Amino acid sequence: MFKQMESYATQRLHFFNDAETKLKAIVAIHSTVRGPAIGGCRFIPYTDDADAITDAIRLAQGMSYKAALAGLPHGGGKAVVIVPNQPFDRAALMRSFGAYINILNGEYITAMDSGTQVTDMDQIKKSTHWVTCTSTSGDPSPYTALGVFEGIKASVEFKLRRKDLTGLHVSIQGLGHVGYEVARLLHQAGARLTVTDIDPSKIQLCKEHFSAKSVEPEEIYNTPADIFCPCGLGAILNTDTIKQLQVSIVAGSANNQLEKERHGDLLSERGILYAPDYLINSGGLIFVSLQHAQKSIAAIHHKILQIGPSLHQIYRDSERSEHSIHRIANEKAEAIINASEEIHSVA
Ligand code: NAD
Repeated sequence: MFKQMESYATQRLHFFNDAETKLKAIVAIHSTVRGPAIGGCRFIPYTDDADAITDAIRLAQGMSYKAALAGLPHGGGKAVVIVPNQPFDRAALMRSFGAYINILNGEYITAMDSGTQVTDMDQIKKSTHWVTCTSTSGDPSPYTALGVFEGIKASVEFKLRRKDLTGLHVSIQGLGHVGYEVARLLHQAGARLTVTDIDPSKIQLCKEHFSAKSVEPEEIYNTPADIFCPCGLGAILNTDTIKQLQVSIVAGSANNQLEKERHGDLLSERGILYAPDYLINSGGLIFVSLQHAQKSIAAIHHKILQIGPSLHQIYRDSERSEHSIHRIANEKAEAIINASEEIHSVA
């Protein structure tokens, strides 16, 4: 485990176990140098504990990079709550998780992520105030979706040399909180959609509302399209899936899309433009952070609209340096975090 922490530069790992509520949770803190670590709480089943630890560690690093590139005063952290394989009281489990978060005394602020809802955040709020995305503060997903939409437009402008999305074909994997809203925005902008999900009811909604076509989940990778938009779970870009892709651009909200760093190089070798996940999906974090600082909705929108130009800059830097896009983004984020470390050590 320490080897893994070392390779992702993880500062701390916290493990929480509560037999009464069946809570088993992991909180990974990547960095607090720019401010309190902030990041969502996943509530999904895992094949084993190692799988859950890996997810938390990788996601926490992504949150640090996301906050750094968005210029937010936060470090990166992530919580993973393992869905119990026996009956449980969801509200009690979330309150128990909140009590543990409270022990961390502000080192980590939790939020919604895959498998959690605002109602879960409301339960957590009963035990700690280190939580966002409650029913009073709101769901960040529409803001994440807006950032993804802006990122897709910037990617199309860079790669396909056109400013509008009319008639472009986008394949979307995952139609949850973010994916459905991205589908709505793309449809409104005149794009054609092919969608997939493991939940048929979500596919049906996209067919009815956005005239989308659908494919089986495993067929989404070899669906010919202009853009592939992954909005499900992570590690979906790997040796097997990348060779199936028939698109010019990969740009979507899912965290940790690259199974390994080398898969970003593989996309580059295939001439596929890859929008680094933690940059294109930073709209939700921008919302959460600025709302916490009591900024206006106009200020939040303004900052989310910077995602497109930031992506453009990274694409240009990658083209000039001949380094893969994801490596340029990583270097930029690490330089920002390291510079903050230096300021703190001088102070
Ligand atoms: P969600 O749980 O609401 O939606 C995920 C969707 O993916 C679900 O509809 C699920 O059925 C589907 N799915 C799961 N496995 C699939 C598979 N194998 N094939 C096709 N579909 C599959 O989650 P969300 O909040 O919409 O987030 C989606 C992704 O974006 C996640 O990776 C999340 O970490 C990331 N993200 C979300 C936010 C946010 O604001 N919600 C912010 C940043 C990043």
